Amino acid sequence: MSSNIGQNYPYASETEAERAAAVEAILAAHERLADAVAAESTPLDAEERWWTWRCRRKGCGGIVHAAGYARDNRAVYVVCDRCGSTSLR
Ligand SMILES: [Zn+2]
Repeated sequence: MSSNIGQNYPYASETEAERAAAVEAILAAHERLADAVAAESTPLDAEERWWTWRCRRKGCGGIVHAAGYARDNRAVYVVCDRCGSTSLR
């Protein structure tokens, strides 16, 4: 599990199985999001647990889950389970 970056305090953690199921459901619910994830991130390493965070989008209230690593830096690439937005943590 990677440590949090700066002020991005994690919301909770989840198992790899929970993370994979959450990301699969998010990608299934948001058209073309899988293409964006594939284009903008690289696959995650094998970890037993992952952090989750609150979505930063105002009024969303969703939880973001790790979907990969950002291609151009060491941040975790995350997707929101409510609005489908992507961001880095
Ligand atoms: Zn959101």
